[in-house]
Amino acid sequence: MQTTLRHSVEFKGTGLHSGRPVVLRILPAPKDHGIVFVRTDVKALDANVAARWDLVDRSPLCTRLENKQGVSVSTVEHVMAALCGCGIHNAVLELSGPEVPILDGSSLPFVRGLINAGRERLNAPVRAIEILKQIGVSNGEAHASFEPADAMIVQFHIEFSDQAIGLQEKELHLSNGAFARELCDSRTFCRQRDVDAMRANGLAMGGTLRNAVVFDGDEVLSPGGLRHRDEPVRHKMLDAVGDLALAGAPILGKYIGHKAGHALTNTLLRELFARPDAWRYIELTEDQRALLPGAGVKEADICAFA
Ligand SMILES: [Zn+2]
Repeated sequence: MQTTLRHSVEFKGTGLHSGRPVVLRILPAPKDHGIVFVRTDVKALDANVAARWDLVDRSPLCTRLENKQGVSVSTVEHVMAALCGCGIHNAVLELSGPEVPILDGSSLPFVRGLINAGRERLNAPVRAIEILKQIGVSNGEAHASFEPADAMIVQFHIEFSDQAIGLQEKELHLSNGAFARELCDSRTFCRQRDVDAMRANGLAMGGTLRNAVVFDGDEVLSPGGLRHRDEPVRHKMLDAVGDLALAGAPILGKYIGHKAGHALTNTLLRELFARPDAWRYIELTEDQRALLPGAGVKEADICAFA
């Protein structure tokens, strides 16, 4: 069965890039509605922005959606990952400005709020995207690919010259509460020199050492250090889960990311949907549904860090 929230839930924070205050309210929605953002500050134009791969404007720093009238929502990936990781298929996301609040730079506050809001089952089957063939896309050294698998699996590799990050790889079967247990608390990360460059371009104005892990060579500048030794690769997996949630249906397959970012994951979705031989929609059986990210997730699954 599809699900939505039992109660609405509100998050107040600031936008990572604008630095401006913003309120996000997540409300229940009926079956087959999907995930749709509504900009409550937009009156004269269409304020609805569907959380869909084909509305992604591939900006390199975050995932930004834009509807046909040019109304946009930025930095959707962490809340999309939380909705996927909590198994929420239908919701309205009312947003008071152009950017989702960054909160602590992870999905943890969203996951905690969604689990506390409770889930409601809806009388409609879950339709999933089954990957039938291996497909991949590249951009220089970066690759992203899908392979067939009986559940959602995410594998990621990163390599940075900064000693505090270095080479990290991880693979996770996203069944049950694995997203909440293993990924949701890992924060956005960046190097000090990236912060300097972004600020020079008027970006990351809301970024602080509290909502991003900042590295400089072999040092972690953020107070309290890392939440996990391999927090960066876990965050890249979180981002991939959020970006893949824009497929509009759960994915049964394995995603492999190698130095991939938001834009490349979106390119992979575009390649997938351009290749009708590489996937098909299937209606999930009870057994298959039990393997979806978020099936059976509970408060006790939220990362030990919390
Ligand atoms: Zn992120």
